[in-house]
Order: sequence, then structure tokens, then C-alpha cells
Amino acid sequence: MKGTGASPGIALGKALVIENEPLVVEKKEIESTEKEKSRFLEALEKSKEQLKKVREKALKEMGQEKAAIFEAHLMILEDPELIQSTTKKIEDEGLNGEYAFKEITTQFVSIFEAMDNEYMKERAADIRDVSDRVLRNLMDQPIIDLSILDEEVILIAHDLTPSDTATMNKEKVLGFLTNIGGRTSHTAIMARSLEIPAVVGLKDITEKVNTSDFIVLNGETGEVMINPDEEEIQKYKTMKEKYEHEKKELESLKDQPSITPDGRKVELAGNIGTPKDIDGLLKNDAEGVGLYRTEFIYMDRDSMPTEDEQFEAYKEVLESLNPKPIVIRTLDIGGDKELPYLHIDKEMNPFLGYRAIRLCLKEQEIFKTQLRALLRASIYGKLKIMFPMISSLEELLEAKKILNEVKKDLDKEGIEYSKDIEVGMMIEVPSAAIISDILAKHVDFFSIGTNDLIQYTTAVDRMNEKIHYLYNPFNPAVLRLIKMVIDNGHKEGIWVGMCGEMAGDKRMIPILLGMGLDEFSMSPISILPARKLIRSLKHEDMKKVAENVLSMGSAEEIESYLEEIFD
Ligand code: PEP
Ligand code: MG
Repeated sequence: MKGTGASPGIALGKALVIENEPLVVEKKEIESTEKEKSRFLEALEKSKEQLKKVREKALKEMGQEKAAIFEAHLMILEDPELIQSTTKKIEDEGLNGEYAFKEITTQFVSIFEAMDNEYMKERAADIRDVSDRVLRNLMDQPIIDLSILDEEVILIAHDLTPSDTATMNKEKVLGFLTNIGGRTSHTAIMARSLEIPAVVGLKDITEKVNTSDFIVLNGETGEVMINPDEEEIQKYKTMKEKYEHEKKELESLKDQPSITPDGRKVELAGNIGTPKDIDGLLKNDAEGVGLYRTEFIYMDRDSMPTEDEQFEAYKEVLESLNPKPIVIRTLDIGGDKELPYLHIDKEMNPFLGYRAIRLCLKEQEIFKTQLRALLRASIYGKLKIMFPMISSLEELLEAKKILNEVKKDLDKEGIEYSKDIEVGMMIEVPSAAIISDILAKHVDFFSIGTNDLIQYTTAVDRMNEKIHYLYNPFNPAVLRLIKMVIDNGHKEGIWVGMCGEMAGDKRMIPILLGMGLDEFSMSPISILPARKLIRSLKHEDMKKVAENVLSMGSAEEIESYLEEIFD
């Protein structure tokens, strides 16, 4: 069978089919609508308590990002529309609690499933997951617990819910196979971060497999075999050995410089969202942090984080990686990252709206609190401060002015901070790239944010699946802007990095190296493969490659040229 490879690696082992007992929800005679309403509200409360525990466990074992999924589930449970529609249905139609709730959540699920956007479609699974829990609680049915597994297994399920992956005993799970899901589904994300091989979107794998069948799977290609013959098993065993050998080989690159055979040395750094990501950085030998997205400190909560809370988070990252350089980006909220408690009016084009540095320059208390926390933490390591979304010289100068004011405040209060903090900016808006010769005179570094630079340069919303084919990092306009920024930075003697996804893309690294990029910042898991690649490429040759690429007029031409010379 073939599905979508969701998390790389090869697994061989016995299947455990998780049959989430299908729930039969029936219409029943009721005593009173009042009683049904309170049964329903009690089940909501019970589910909340359970989910809070699951969230705690996830937070401890998998970090804030994973725990946030359960925060989202708790929010679904608190959704007034969901609650009120259910109680109203009980009242108006005299229904039993479970029947009314099932009807309402089914409506919600079908609305999400009908959406064009792949990401929103996947959220239907979250609602189903939450609804299943509430229904089981209403009907006094057990909730399946994967934390107790006696032997090593490959889990086979329609879908693994986030609660399943959070509570499961990971030591015993060799792989996952699911009927549904795509690359952005939670199951896939979880599997990658747990480094467990997985294939998703297999349609009817739960029908085809019985518990104790022997399974082999390739999480890269999406191939799965049920009860294969001895020859196939041997083939997969060999593949597994090869995969693990390659992974081991990468280990030998730890502590090695990221340098080309002809002596061009670059820095390979990691992108992180929380101090919980420090382990991944250390494990993958990051040479620093090229982007710490601080918005996660502000998200998943009901109020602004205090100066002290922020200080603790920044200090933890700086201290544990000292003396490695840590680029911390100031608040980049807005666009796809909302803060409900900020109460910003709905905008027609949030990505072009009141966000990031624009918001910080207006709501200066928020900005100053963060800058104070950053400066106070600076004595614990090598801090570099970076401003996001700068689109003009005025904005940059204003942000720097506020930073200096905060420094003066600290001086007055006798609070210590490091005196040699580099200050840089992201280049993610075309206007900034175009005047980068001027901006370079006012900063210590640039970091190119290609995730946004691509969307703003090509006018392609990075979240819109329908026009995703236009969102192409090989677009020559984007590549020319990048080259321009690197050259302008170098003319002023500053270093230029990149923290957009492109920096970790194997097909892109040769070109970026040839263009002279100094620092590449990526998800930690991509660092060692990138180092291996860089150590195999001659800088002089890559300069030529970059030059050729920059003379081409279409992404297609560039991609086929690269295939030709590298495959
Ligand atoms: C970028 O835009 O490339 C970037 C790194 O920032 P974010 O993905 O957080 O917008
Ligand atoms: Mg960005």
C-alpha cells in the first residue's frame, strides 16, 4: 500500500489496530431538559479536567508547541456557540444531551471538512476528537489509553488523536499508520517531532490489517507492506540499517565546522519557538539560534506575559547555549498569528496590516516590556536583537530609538545589560530589500525571512492552498532580491543570514552558498544534513552556479538546471 510519508525512517513490527469502539449515539426519552442540560455541562467539565491533565503531560514530555494542541481543544470545549447551540437544542427539541451534542458537532465538523483550505480541513479532526471525549464521558464509556503498552508495536488507526500521541508510551511505538491525514495533520507533526516513522492517508489500512499482523513501512516514501515474505522483510531490514547508518554518519559531523572543501565557512543555526526546543538544538549541533520566534511566549494564554516571565524564557535559552550567538526576534504578532486578548480589529488583509513592528511602535508599552526583558537577559549569553517586518528606514530608526530609551531607563535604575548586543533586522518586505544598501548602514546584520519575502514579492498569500503553486522559492524575482540584499549587506561590512524555510532546503543551499550567504538558520533536524551537503560543495563552483541561476527567467528553468547539475 502507499500513503503519504509523514515522518522519515523505516519500521518493522507487529501491528496493534486501535479500534476506537464506534460510539452509537441514540435518541432517548428524557426525564427533563434541565437534567439533560446539566448532564451535558458536567460531561464538559469532566472532559476539561481530563484534557488539562493531558496538556500537563504533553507539556512535560513534548514541549509547549505540542501542549498548545490541547489548549486548542480546551478552547473548543469553551466555545460559547458550541455550548449554547447544544443547550438550546436540548431545550427546543427535548433531546437527550449526547444526541443534541452529536448533532451540533457533526454540523461543525462538516463545515470544516468542506473548506478548501487543507489546514482547516484537518482541524475537523480536532473537533471530532473533542466531541468523542465528551460523548464518551456522557455515556460512561472508557477512553482508550495508549500509555499502557506491553510490547513494541506499530499503531494502526483511523487517525491518532493528539491525546493519543500525547499519552502514548513512546518507547513502545515503532511506527504509525493512519487512514486519514496529510503532511500538516497533527499526527504527522507529532510523529516528526517524536522522530517516529509514520505513513498517513492510507484510506482503509484499519480494514486491511489485523492486530498481530507483521508490518513494514517506509516513512519517507509512504510505502507499507502487510505480512510481507521473508525476502521483503530482509529488504526492509537492509533499508533500515542503511537509514540508521546514514543517520549515524551524520552524527560524526557533530562538532565539525560547516565549511566547503575550498575553505568557505558558514554558520548553521536553528530556528526555535520556546526554551523547550533547546534539546533539539543541542542534539543536532546547532551553531547558534538564527531565529527565536518570541510570539509563542505571548500565544496560548489570556494576557500579556510579564517582563519577568519573558526574562526567564530568554535567560534560559541564552544561558544554556552560551557562548553561541542567539538571535531573538521581537514580537511578530499579526498575520496568521493572532493574540485574542489584544483585541485588534478584523482587517481585510491581515498580512498587510497592523502587525509585528508596526504594532510594537504604536503600542510601545508592549515593546518596551519585551526590550527590557531582553536587555536584562543579555548578560547571560550572546544576545542579538532582531526587528521583524521592517519596511522603511523610519521604522528601523524609530525601533532603535526606543531600544536606546529602554537602555537609558535601565542605566538610571542601575540595572545591568550587555554593552555589545548586535542589533539587526529581518528582510522580509520587498521595500526593505530594495533599500537594503541604506538600511545596512544602520544595523549589525540582516536576516532574510523568505517565508514572507516570497509572499510579498510575488503577491501570493502563503496560507492559501489554491494559489500555492505560485508560492515558489525559485522565483527569479525572489532570488535576485536575495542576492541584492547579501551584496548590499557585505558592502557595508555586515553579515547576512536567512531564517526562512528556504535556508534548510537542500536544493537551495548550493545557490545561497554561491551567493555568499553567511548564516543559514533552519529547523534543527535539517542542520546535520545541511552540514554534510556544504562540506561537499566547492564555494568557487557554487558562485558559478548562482551566477547562472541569476541569469534565468523562470523558476522552471532554474529547477531543471539544478536537477541537471546535481542529480
Ligand atoms: C519569514 O517570514 O521568513 C520568517 C522566518 O518569519 P515567520 O515565518 O515567523 O513569518
Ligand atoms: Mg515573517
